[in-house]
Amino acid sequence: MMPNHLIVAIDGPSGSGKSTVSRAAAKQLGWHLLDTGSVYRALTWFALDRQIDPADQDAVVALLPEFFAQWRLSLEPDERWVRIGDTDITEAIRETRISELVSGVATNLRVRAAVNERFRQILHEDNAAGIIAEGRDLTTVVVPDAPLRILITASEAERIRRRQAERAGDNAKRVAATISERDARDATVANFTSAADGVVELDTTNLTLDAAITAVIELIRKAQQ
Ligand code: C5P
Repeated sequence: MMPNHLIVAIDGPSGSGKSTVSRAAAKQLGWHLLDTGSVYRALTWFALDRQIDPADQDAVVALLPEFFAQWRLSLEPDERWVRIGDTDITEAIRETRISELVSGVATNLRVRAAVNERFRQILHEDNAAGIIAEGRDLTTVVVPDAPLRILITASEAERIRRRQAERAGDNAKRVAATISERDARDATVANFTSAADGVVELDTTNLTLDAAITAVIELIRKAQQ
């Protein structure tokens, strides 16, 4: 780890803007980015590829050694890719079929423990000037000791509107239902709706994307002083 290496933890529900804001901020700062949701998505893809039900807890836990041996994730914010061995799954893990099944993997507590250990290792071994780690439980479970922790929120109506705009080709009602159901299931294992002690809340409901990015960069600059 570099001296003064800064870890910034960012959490929030889907559609809050956390992924886009985290990626843009990391890019502007020349930092690394750890997209933790992509790991749960990749493991869901991996289970399906091996004909395993993502909700079958024992079977998914048994897959973990093979998964970690083959899984690769880019930490460069402007080179977004996820691979299993030689297979690029960057786009495949964003499909609705994965979004609908990912909570089965994410609510598996043994999976969470293993994945979180891996996240901590990546964050502490990282050699960039700083790294932003974003997801659902970074501020509370993965790195609660990070010097800067931010919870990015937005009203549910606004979050649904953003996801529908992103997935304009998909059925709007299904997109809305997927987001609400996924949040409800995810909320059973992580608190990403209210800020824990010491976590700064940034409500982006009425912010443009640029304003949200600027706000996060300002918080980081302040934490560096
Ligand atoms: O952020 P994204 O929508 O890609 O996350 C996909 C899923 O991964 C979430 O719906 C949640 O089930 C899981 N997740 C999690 N903890 C994290 C990040 C993501 O449980 N830190």
